[in-house]
Amino acid sequence: MTESTRMVVVKGVDEMKAVSRALRKDGKTIAFVPTMGALHEGHLTLMAEGKKRADVLVASVFVNPAQFGPGEDYKKYTRDTEGDLDKMRRIGVDVAFFPEPGEIYPPGFQTYVEVTELEKPLCGASRPGHFRGVATVVLKLFNIVRPDAALFGKKDYQQLQVIKRMVRDLDLDVEIVGMPVVREASGLAMSSRNAYLSEEQRTRAGALSRALGEIKRKFDGGERNAAALLESGRRVLTDSSAGDIDYLEIRNGDTLEEVKLASPGDVAALAVKVGRARLIDNIEL
Ligand code: AMP
Repeated sequence: MTESTRMVVVKGVDEMKAVSRALRKDGKTIAFVPTMGALHEGHLTLMAEGKKRADVLVASVFVNPAQFGPGEDYKKYTRDTEGDLDKMRRIGVDVAFFPEPGEIYPPGFQTYVEVTELEKPLCGASRPGHFRGVATVVLKLFNIVRPDAALFGKKDYQQLQVIKRMVRDLDLDVEIVGMPVVREASGLAMSSRNAYLSEEQRTRAGALSRALGEIKRKFDGGERNAAALLESGRRVLTDSSAGDIDYLEIRNGDTLEEVKLASPGDVAALAVKVGRARLIDNIEL
């Protein structure tokens, strides 16, 4: 397939498997970008990179019920199929995969993937079962699409580590590519959930990246004490009344273990509730 080929839209799991099988038989390599839709520049950057890395780009839109907890925003999550299809076409997606929840989780479904340690801290602590849902759907999508490479954003830093670990632990034959966080001019990390923010909340949410920037600045200036670094970030958040801080932590960039003394390769990560949006962001030290 080339850029001039029309984008193929696939809904059925068996059809997606058949498309993938045919492509592989033709000797084509496949890059894959899984998303939950309401596509923005962050998603599109992953897709543009995917196009460079393989002969064919498959992108999926699936709002995965298994990664939402009770009372979370599964029902209210933004769905914009027409807008997404339009953006996917323009960026040059070759195969757009829109599976139905009932086909991904048919009656009787009971098999889940748990990445036992990496899923515990940070978002895992306040969203029990979230990463089990993520790992399970990503493994299923990998088995359906059979990609050579899959691209994920560092915006969801813990998710990226969970997926890398799953791929190593289960000997999956796919290269995982982590891509930098794409931000608004204000520094706010792009997210489908930013749509929940009012103008005033959006301004306040700018403090999240400023807090992380402050931590990085102090780290680059030689401060290594994690508590002191976090205090400087916390001050930025409280001074600008950003919202309720769920967590603000510095952890090892690979194992996500807590650190008392920060070192290069560690990650400062936060989750803050701004209005009804729970926003996450991070910065690598
Ligand atoms: P989502 O639709 O939120 O599940 O995200 C789908 C993929 O896009 C995940 O790999 C995310 O990490 C990635 N992504 C979302 N927002 C951004 C962003 N602002 N910068 C880079 N990648 C992103």
